[in-house]
Amino acid sequence: MSDTIFSKIIDRKIEADIVFEDDRCLAFRDVNPQAPMHVLVIPKKPIDMLAHADDSDASLLGHLMLVARQVAADEGYPDAFRLVVNNGETVGQTVFHLHLHVLGGRDFAWPPG
Ligand code: AMP
Repeated sequence: MSDTIFSKIIDRKIEADIVFEDDRCLAFRDVNPQAPMHVLVIPKKPIDMLAHADDSDASLLGHLMLVARQVAADEGYPDAFRLVVNNGETVGQTVFHLHLHVLGGRDFAWPPG
């Protein structure tokens, strides 16, 4: 997988507003927030999209969701948040390093646009 803007954030080559980090993942504020809370949770392992994760990533993927839950709680939204994973260019993925959008702080429509 080639370098992405997110791998540069992991390597501290570019700055980000980091809210959580551990040995397996990093969470930072989206530079173009779509809600009062908009944090991205990414694995440090370079997986370009969910479709390309494999069975050995099961624990890591679960960890990302638990970190997303914790981030939402820390941001003040323990009971009302939305997780979004865009998988592929046609559904809106623009950065090809797997990431969970953690959104909250406003009403959300369903179905999503
Ligand atoms: P997606 O469209 O699902 O691939 O989401 C990529 C997200 O990354 C978008 O919401 C962008 O606003 C966000 N983004 C792009 N560059 C940066 C950056 N340098 N720091 C934080 N968020 C970024």
